Amino acid sequence: MTDSSLPSLKVIEKAPQAVPPVYNFVSSNKNTSIRNFIGLPEENVVVLGARRIPAVASPVASTHTALSILTSVGFSHLSVKDYSKASKDLVPDIVIGLGEIPFGSEKISRKRTDRITDRTAKWMKEQIANNEESPDAGSTAPALFAPLLPLTVDAQAWYLDQVVESMLPNVSGLAVYDTVSLVNLPQSLAEKPRISLTEPRTPHHVLRVLAMGIDLSTIPFIGQATDAGIALDFAFPPPETKDDSPQALGVDMWQTSYVTSVTPLSDGCTCYACTKHHRAYLQHLLMAKEMLGWVLLQIHNHHILDVFFAGVRESISDDTFERDVEAFGKYYEAELPAKSGQGPRVRGYQFRSEGPSEPRRNPAPYKNFNDQSEKIADAVTGSALPDANVDAGELEEKGFGEQT
Ligand SMILES: [Zn+2]
Repeated sequence: MTDSSLPSLKVIEKAPQAVPPVYNFVSSNKNTSIRNFIGLPEENVVVLGARRIPAVASPVASTHTALSILTSVGFSHLSVKDYSKASKDLVPDIVIGLGEIPFGSEKISRKRTDRITDRTAKWMKEQIANNEESPDAGSTAPALFAPLLPLTVDAQAWYLDQVVESMLPNVSGLAVYDTVSLVNLPQSLAEKPRISLTEPRTPHHVLRVLAMGIDLSTIPFIGQATDAGIALDFAFPPPETKDDSPQALGVDMWQTSYVTSVTPLSDGCTCYACTKHHRAYLQHLLMAKEMLGWVLLQIHNHHILDVFFAGVRESISDDTFERDVEAFGKYYEAELPAKSGQGPRVRGYQFRSEGPSEPRRNPAPYKNFNDQSEKIADAVTGSALPDANVDAGELEEKGFGEQT
């Protein structure tokens, strides 16, 4: 591998000019992949995609040969050539084909539809050609999932016909950005595995996309619930017995009623957090802004979803899925509990700056020392000095014992 042939992907490295460590690793160690680099267990599937979910809208337009993306070092362009090369060198299990996917729910004009269709078709052809090019002896190309544009089947008929269907042997599955693209899908494509890159808000939405034939799905609400201090608490199929009112989908760990609660986050849960710790400890960690609190919550929340999906698989194989979905809808509330406490400190890569005069994303951890020293000086030199019999309220008025 020579410097000139290296992709300029800015996935992990800090300095844009440097070769990302992952490329050095895979090129200098035979039969290794990004899985070895990140130490991911064999049972987990590695999916390579150009954008995170939920995606961050890029202010810079994509070009005919490259997609505009947010990287750890700012906005940049990812060329089809670099992405194709990365998919070969890093050997993930699944590669999401690079597509020009618009963001949000804005209406896509006719002109824009033509542009994204043309670009995605062109990029997919290039990626398929690259996958076929001189594969290394003994190596298998990653499974390429063709993106379905977030449009109706009719609106993207040309792309589906000319690219996806005509190159079907090279396409292992479909990447779905909007379930509208699954309605009236041609039979030849309907049999392909489907990965959903949507943003279901609740487990009810997850069940809805599964009912539409999705096999794998991204679930950003796991991380969002964890950030909000919510321990997810639901099972599929739901328990047989039921109270009159719908049950909450999660437990807000900021509730002060848990300050002395030594029960698990969720009754009967077998995850590490629930078997080793209790609600009171978790709340203490959140109040103290200890990162471990959110780590334990995330372990628990992932476990809840693992068990949820195991239940879904069993329900499908028992042919009771429809009935179980209906029971789940009745048993649980429609939305996750609202956030009542603060999340962990927001990092720079978690939001996009929108310009000057933005409000603070994190509360200030300290106050200016001078504010405090002035209060003390006033108290000591002036008549504000409290006498021995003063009550607590008066002391606070003079700036003593105030929470900062
Ligand atoms: Zn648990």
